[in-house]
Formats: sequence, structure tokens, C-alpha cells
Amino acid sequence: MSKVPVVAVVACMIPEMGIGFQGKLPWRLATEMKYFKEVTSTTKDPTKVNAVVMGRKTWESIPPRFRPLPNRINMVVSRQPRAQLHLDDQVYSTSSLSQGIEHLNTNFGERLERIYIIGGAEIYSQSYELVDHWLVTKIQPLPESQVPEMDTHLDPQRLALTFKERSLDELSQFLPQTSVPIVNPIEEKGFHYWFTLYTNQ
Ligand code: NDP
Repeated sequence: MSKVPVVAVVACMIPEMGIGFQGKLPWRLATEMKYFKEVTSTTKDPTKVNAVVMGRKTWESIPPRFRPLPNRINMVVSRQPRAQLHLDDQVYSTSSLSQGIEHLNTNFGERLERIYIIGGAEIYSQSYELVDHWLVTKIQPLPESQVPEMDTHLDPQRLALTFKERSLDELSQFLPQTSVPIVNPIEEKGFHYWFTLYTNQ
């Protein structure tokens, strides 16, 4: 059975690679959110669907009215029994990231286009050996802006260890059609940010 590509998606503040604060995102960037939504929802093949896999804390950080994330198969990783998670029927749960990926391949194989790993830090830290690509939005405050408070970070070394950054052209080819222009950098609310693609070397 051929395996579906697994893609981690993250937005992080460089250089410290901060991704969260008090269980939430440290910023509100509408265009970045739109990029995330469109990339993870849209497929190149209209007969297929994508899956999003996330840790239990990231699931809980999504306001209930916005979850499950629409037009995507949602899967939550947790060590707790499913009954304790109060998930809707259409949301899948798994007791490990690798089992979750296996389950999606077995049950949706031909219908699935990509599996997106969407966080948080604990799940990303277990993803390096399992993913083929990383979509990383690199954020920086503009010179007049403050660095936001952050308490959750990615390991700044690990990505560069086994993944190679690709060009903007390669990123554009990799992405499905989006209404967000793939130009770098984008400026929004005191920050500028760059969309990037890393692929397993
Ligand atoms: P996670 O979302 O990674 O969830 C952690 C939970 O996942 C654990 O408590 C456990 O659930 C479950 N889990 C983790 N590893 C395993 C395993 N091996 N087997 C079974 N279950 C496992 O939490 P974090 O606190 O690390 O990250 C959340 C933060 O990240 C928030 O601030 C959020 O806003 C941010 N974030 C940022 C993103 C960005 O792009 N900037 C994207 C996504 C999140 P349980 O306790 O139920 O057993």
C-alpha cells in the first residue's frame, strides 16, 4: 500500500521558534490563519480529502464552535480513553501519532491526499521521523514591535538537521490552489512573515 504524504504545518517566531503562550497562539494573524485553513482543506485532486492530526491540547485550544475543523478528517492524539475526551462521532482519536497515521492510511488510503500534523509542541517533537515535509511560517516582529510572550517552543536545531529548505517556487508547486498569494514576506499587525517548505533530504 502506498503511503500518503505526511506534512507538518507550523507558524513560529524566529529565531527562538516560539509557537504558543498559555495554551493559545501568541499572535492573531488573519492571513496566516487563512493560509493554514486553505492549505489543509484544499486538495489538488477534487475527489480526495486531507486529514489533520493534533495533540489533545491543541484540539482543546480550538474554540468549540470551530471544531472539528471542517472539510478535513480530524484526529486527536491522547493517552486518555476516548470516552474521557468527549469528541464528536466524526472525530477520530488515537493513542499515538504513528498509530494514527497508520490508521488513516489503512482506512482512507485511496481517498486521502495528505495527512497534516498541526501541533502542538509535544506532537511536533515526535514528528521529525514520521513526516516528509514541513510547512513553516517564519514570523518576526517589525522593528517597532515587541516580541510577544511565548512559553511553548520548537527545538531550533532539529528541523535543519534532516530537512532542507526549498525555494519559493518549489513551495508554490507543492501547495494546492490558495487565494492567499504566496509572496514573501507578508506584513500584518506589527509582524512580517515568510511561508517556507522543508523537505526530507
Ligand atoms: P499538544 O497539542 O502537543 O498536546 C499534548 C497532548 O497530546 C498530551 O497532553 C497528550 O494528551 C497527547 N500526546 C502527546 N504525545 C502523545 C503520545 N506519544 N501518545 C499519546 N498521546 C500523546 O500540546 P502542547 O502543549 O505541546 O502544545 C500546545 C500549544 O501549541 C498551544 O499553545 C497551541 O496554541 C500551540 N500551537 C501552536 C501552533 C503554531 O503553529 N504556532 C500549532 C498548534 C499548536 P493527553 O494529555 O490527553 O494524554
